[in-house]
Amino acid sequence: MAYAVTLVRGDGIGPEVAKATQTVVDATGVKIDWTVVDAGVDVMEQYGTPLPEHVLESIRTTKVAIKGPITTPVGSGFRSVNVAIRKELDLYANLRPAKSIEGVKSTFKDIDLIIVRENTEDLYAGIEFEVGTEAVGKANQFLSELSGKTIRADSAIGVKPISDFGSRRIVKFAFDYARANGRKKVTAVHKANIMKFTDGLFLEVARDVAKDYTDIEFEDRIVDNMCMQLMQKPELYDVLVLPNLYGDIVSDLCAGMIGGLGVAPGANIGTDMAVFEAIHGSAPKYAGQNRVNPTALILSGVMMLRYLGETSAADRLQQAVEDIIAEGKHVTYDLAPSGITPVGTQEMAEAIAAKLAS
Ligand code: NAD
Repeated sequence: MAYAVTLVRGDGIGPEVAKATQTVVDATGVKIDWTVVDAGVDVMEQYGTPLPEHVLESIRTTKVAIKGPITTPVGSGFRSVNVAIRKELDLYANLRPAKSIEGVKSTFKDIDLIIVRENTEDLYAGIEFEVGTEAVGKANQFLSELSGKTIRADSAIGVKPISDFGSRRIVKFAFDYARANGRKKVTAVHKANIMKFTDGLFLEVARDVAKDYTDIEFEDRIVDNMCMQLMQKPELYDVLVLPNLYGDIVSDLCAGMIGGLGVAPGANIGTDMAVFEAIHGSAPKYAGQNRVNPTALILSGVMMLRYLGETSAADRLQQAVEDIIAEGKHVTYDLAPSGITPVGTQEMAEAIAAKLAS
């Protein structure tokens, strides 16, 4: 029987990398019944929203989706569709592996890190008050009274909720992942020395959860020190678990360590559904040019195949991607060795598909 999967094509370079991913996933021979839907700036006019209800409904039905990137306007305009999907479907775990691939230019070698980012809380909760509004005035007054501290009158205010429930389930996810995947150590990353109650709770819960996983080593690091350590001694680290904002930043740092956003995959996982997406955004300046690297979304497709239990197909697709990159003949501009003419997004996908068939 075919697996039902929703393909959200996204905007910008989204439709191109989505098509490339569909090509290679189909080439593994695993039967997928794709429901193709659109979200993002391109559907705003038609539906009056960048995230039409039928997109969420389709994911709720198929329970598995692969998604191209979607633009979020900076400052004014709508809030992030990507964040909305994660929150609406309670996809609480953002899993972002960072593994070096031979043939991808990078100053670091042999990186093999797993970033587990909490996806629903923290400063991403979307509880913000705009400068100059009545609401920010009230929030300011209330918070000043409550805390005994002064907030400047011309401030905008954001709220950082970190719960015991949210922290516990993400730390458990990290330990369960470590155990299921033969990983040795989980490091909880925080800034509990400054944010004593929010990050302090995250750390306290992490220490408590760790007690149930005595087969896995546990330690914690303050986020700024973690960044420096990753630059100096990345081999000391294995699985990192972080609240939302630090997770977003540190995972981009780790993507940079393996050669950039073009090769960094990801997954958003909930209790019974998952949405797979690259870490990179919609790179609008390259949209419609069949130019960008499809590897990040294709490797997200590998993660999807593993999630579906199609381990052998996942291994074969991963190997085909690694072979094509190592050969360096059918790769996009960002991967092409000097002297080699790069190919387009879809041509790279077709070379991977041909490798799978060979
Ligand atoms: P971006 O990732 O879109 O692009 C940054 C740069 O990275 C690009 O200019 C390009 O040089 C490079 N790049 C990205 N993907 C690449 C690929 N596949 N191949 C080769 N090079 C690639 O980041 P940005 O410019 O900060 O964001 C653009 C838009 O995407 C924003 O609206 C942002 O909000 C959105 N965004 C969406 C997601 C998502 O859908 N999950 C994630 C991040 C950013």
